[in-house]
Amino acid sequence: MVNKDSFQRLKLTIRGAVQGVGFRPFVFRLAQRLGLQGFVCNTAGGVIVEVEGDEPLLRDFLLKISCEAPERAAMASVEPVFIEAVGHRGFEIRESREGAVDTWVSPDIAMCDDCRQEIADPSNRRFAYPFTNCMHCGPRYSMIERLPYDRVNTSMKQFKMCDACQREYDDPLARRFHAQPNACAACGPRVALWDGSGRVLAKDGEAIAAAVAAILDGKIVAVKGIGGFHLLVDAASDTAVMRLRERKRRFAKPLALMFPDLASVKTACVVVPLEERLLISPQAPIVLLRRVAGDVIAASVAPGNPYWGVMLPYSPLHQLLLEGVGRAVVATSGNIAEETICIDAREALKRLEDIADIFLVHDRPILRPVDDSVVRVICDTEQVIRRARGYAPLPVMVDDDMLPALAVGGHLKNAVALARGKDVFISSHIGDLETVPSNEAFQRSIDDMGTLLDIKPEHVVCDAHPDYYSTYYAQGLGIPVVTVQHHQAHVLACMADNGLSAPVLGVSWDGSGYGPDGTVWGGEFFSVNDKDMQRLACFEPFYLPGGEAAVREPRRALLGALFTAMGERIFEDRYRPYLSGFKDEELHLLRQMLVKRVNVPLTSSVGRRFDALAALVGLGHVNQFEGQAAMALEFILPEQVPRDAYSFRISGREAGRPYIIQAPVWDEVLEDMERQKSVAQISAKFHNMLVEVMVWAAQSSGMRHVVLTGGCFQNRYLSEHAVKRLREEGFKPFWHQRIPPNDGGLALGQIMAAHRVRISL
Ligand code: ZN
Ligand code: ZN
Ligand code: FE
Repeated sequence: MVNKDSFQRLKLTIRGAVQGVGFRPFVFRLAQRLGLQGFVCNTAGGVIVEVEGDEPLLRDFLLKISCEAPERAAMASVEPVFIEAVGHRGFEIRESREGAVDTWVSPDIAMCDDCRQEIADPSNRRFAYPFTNCMHCGPRYSMIERLPYDRVNTSMKQFKMCDACQREYDDPLARRFHAQPNACAACGPRVALWDGSGRVLAKDGEAIAAAVAAILDGKIVAVKGIGGFHLLVDAASDTAVMRLRERKRRFAKPLALMFPDLASVKTACVVVPLEERLLISPQAPIVLLRRVAGDVIAASVAPGNPYWGVMLPYSPLHQLLLEGVGRAVVATSGNIAEETICIDAREALKRLEDIADIFLVHDRPILRPVDDSVVRVICDTEQVIRRARGYAPLPVMVDDDMLPALAVGGHLKNAVALARGKDVFISSHIGDLETVPSNEAFQRSIDDMGTLLDIKPEHVVCDAHPDYYSTYYAQGLGIPVVTVQHHQAHVLACMADNGLSAPVLGVSWDGSGYGPDGTVWGGEFFSVNDKDMQRLACFEPFYLPGGEAAVREPRRALLGALFTAMGERIFEDRYRPYLSGFKDEELHLLRQMLVKRVNVPLTSSVGRRFDALAALVGLGHVNQFEGQAAMALEFILPEQVPRDAYSFRISGREAGRPYIIQAPVWDEVLEDMERQKSVAQISAKFHNMLVEVMVWAAQSSGMRHVVLTGGCFQNRYLSEHAVKRLREEGFKPFWHQRIPPNDGGLALGQIMAAHRVRISL
């Protein structure tokens, strides 16, 4: 059967030393071999490849580009995006596109194989030197002070190269020709081991050996790396992991793992070829991998979670540490809660003093925080969930010319964006803007990006929420402010990510966002045209007792949902078991609030529906981190998910108002509870219902293109099943690839929204 939806276009932006090394002929031959149409072209910012063909062939092409590229082609980053085919004929090497002066700033690049061999070779002068790098790898964004990218403009300027390093740096044939961070043990940065008061315990190799010993001894070691501090502990030791959790006050949220090598990853996780490519890519992100039974990782690393977040050592320092330890370590960001990571050693002593036992530091300043990125494979494509090291500050290229603009993002998982021409530069993940240090980091990021990229915004774009810190900040800048509704920004971000223009149906589902009608939105459908964006449908709003407090307490979402559906009947004794998360007094108080409509905002949020169901089936009354209960509902799904679904009801569309979707019909769920259906079955019926709601909306919209966006689409089953069902029904679904579906992607959508406002005037 020929499915024309499987005919797609793969667009690759490849940056790095890929010009003049026979790269374009290599791409040409590969495309010919696979029978793909398209072109390859040099631009100021790198090489752009477009190929069209059947999806499996395109995926094969993507893997082969990474694995079979000419040896001297060092790819600093490869950003793929699968988009709609346009009907390329043949394959051509296009003449270089003229472009603006090249101002892109390289992200930090994971250690290359050549450097890895050198530090492992006792006869090499860089044997075991933790700051080895070359023109193909090493820190970039985290150490660039200003452009142009010369050593004097980096945090390496304080290290004067020795004669041997200088010769490499000056030799056009050497691998370190103009490698700005070039260094060796004689002239470059050095490591030291500090105790909690900053006293030096050891230096260089001895410091690393002592840090290794400390990890093996169950200690918590703070390590200054490329873009900030990590906290490292032995991942095999439950006691050590629990101590880290206690001290970091992070009791349940999954912790990232760093494994010594690919072989050891494969003993603990299932790794498909695309995931392997991501692990060993120059970005070297944390990849979410399905764990296998019988691994040796402490369960407390990610309790109840079928995935491990896994990365490989991406700097020589990490490589040496992991070789020493010989097994996986927890490597979590050196921060408190969701604040920005520490980058300065003295600051780390203060901020991490109650967490780390010892500090492995170095004397190369980190100029800006760059956290580890997080990616996963969804629908057989890469999806960036947290965009930071290896990706930031690379731009997303858009079709139209943008005015110079700043977008400040949302409140949680904040990232900002700066636009100029066809480029939208997206900052590294900043974090939740909940605390003073985070707010300061947010301001520094904006100032720093503007200076570095030399962009002076003519207007600023923010969320429509009047009380977000980012909104206040935008209003204080003294330039025109454009406000954008949260879920509309999500939709436009997903469209830009997929190079898609209107008309589309936008499915925008998350925990919460400010709605212009005074309710909390989060389960929205928009029909997007060139000019406007109409709210086609939304989930039936329910009362949320305590508003924001309910984000941490799924039991409140449950009570609100049931009260809205059933009224005061829900307080009858027969329903009391379903509200077991509450004490009598608590329930009494919340009943008053609900009856009197005091502090009980209405919400159409899908995230809160997940919460409500999770609380009902006993998967958690109180969240320890955002989305915990919702994730538990996903994770309990059986391997083979049954196809039956709860029903849903639609109320008619009157006078330009949106359709209202009543889903789930809570009576049905309560009936299943009474019949003691399994939690897995109930969860499956709920997920499937949500997918059928999307199919209904697509059919009602008259649109063929459907974009899936918002934090709910981090749910892998929800995304993959929706894509499958929408395709079955003749629609063309799109999801996020390079930009996170969560609020980390908002800034891109905000930029696009402001642009739409401008062109429609
Ligand atoms: Zn290298
Ligand atoms: Zn040197
Ligand atoms: Fe959101």
